[in-house]
Amino acid sequence: MNSKELIALEDRYGAHNYHPLDVIIDRAEGVWVYDIEGKRYLDCLSAYSAVNQGHCHPRIIRALKEQADMVTLTSRAFRNSRLGLFEKELCELTGYEMVLPMNSGAEAVETALKVARRWGYQTKGVPAGQAEIIACNGNFHGRTITIVSFSSDEQYRKDYGPFTPGFKVVEFGDIEALGAAVTPNTVAVILEPIQGEGGVVIPPDGYLKGVASLCREQEVLFMVDEIQTGLGRTGRLFAHQHEDVRADVAIIGKALSGGVYPVSAVLSDREVLGLFRPGDHGSTFGGNPLGVAVAREALRVLVEEDLFERAATLGAYLMGRLQRLESPHIKEVRGRGLLVGIELFSESGGARRFCEELQERGILCKETHTHIIRLSPPLVITKEEIDWAMVQIASVLE
Ligand SMILES: *Cc1c(COP(=O)(O)O)cnc(C)c1O
Repeated sequence: MNSKELIALEDRYGAHNYHPLDVIIDRAEGVWVYDIEGKRYLDCLSAYSAVNQGHCHPRIIRALKEQADMVTLTSRAFRNSRLGLFEKELCELTGYEMVLPMNSGAEAVETALKVARRWGYQTKGVPAGQAEIIACNGNFHGRTITIVSFSSDEQYRKDYGPFTPGFKVVEFGDIEALGAAVTPNTVAVILEPIQGEGGVVIPPDGYLKGVASLCREQEVLFMVDEIQTGLGRTGRLFAHQHEDVRADVAIIGKALSGGVYPVSAVLSDREVLGLFRPGDHGSTFGGNPLGVAVAREALRVLVEEDLFERAATLGAYLMGRLQRLESPHIKEVRGRGLLVGIELFSESGGARRFCEELQERGILCKETHTHIIRLSPPLVITKEEIDWAMVQIASVLE
């Protein structure tokens, strides 16, 4: 079948809850993906930072295949020979005492919200049914009904009510607004250290430090959603570590499995995750041997290939090159590590047409919020590949 026919099938049989670029990817390797006609593209989205280690990383694929021949799913009704090793290695890498594995990012966020409420009732002493959680304007934490209950994006909420109560939304980056929203019933603050879907929005310097100390003073859990920003993307293990703070709860997903299998996790200490008792929470696939075998290898690849350092160095190089572009369309270039946003002037007619021109020239990226182009290639990208990409980007934007 050709591209046209395959697109027609999706249009006919699939729900239209996405508006993808019309490129049909058939295989991929490292930073490159190939469409069914064999045309090669540089992937500058990395499945929203899920393939930080590069597509089909040979070590991760080998781990998948080896485990697939052993055992794939036991459910947590029984134990499996891989889970404990994964939990230990993940805790040692991140410096948390405990982990709770789930599958999708949204599930891990839901898990964090549950444990925060539980901590509020059982440890902080919030009256039953009164717990409040504070989130930020412009957030993206997933698509469940509870999570969209505190989304500020109308499209994510329209006709999905009634919503889950118990959430407040304050301006991202405004420490005073956050302080004013905290009450004795506040159990947690949840935020992304850099808002990815929100358009690569970086809060003012000192904000995360301020949030961390406010949370400590007010006895509130500081929860970071590092699903997109974590595991090396911004040049550190976690993006909130750029301000030398430690969150009470960190939520990860996406690159935890190198894009090979859905694996997510909530990380925290015994005081928080120790509150779960058998039967309080669960997932049939969470912590399954196939997923954790893949995740263990994906984590080793991140560390052994120095991908944090690589993201820091090459990200700075890419940002520098982008900032020197002389383009009538660019309002601002911002980012950290290899998470970069190019904000265009609203008169430029939206980012979509530039993404389509880049596609013509062999680069895949996706607009976010109509006028922002996000560039987040796999962290295994080379300087030469960035140089090649810059030629294409310059010809489209200058
Ligand atoms: C992608 C993402 C999620 C949701 O993850 P899913 O696996 O799509 O459920 C949550 N938070 C952030 C910051 C994300 O980027």
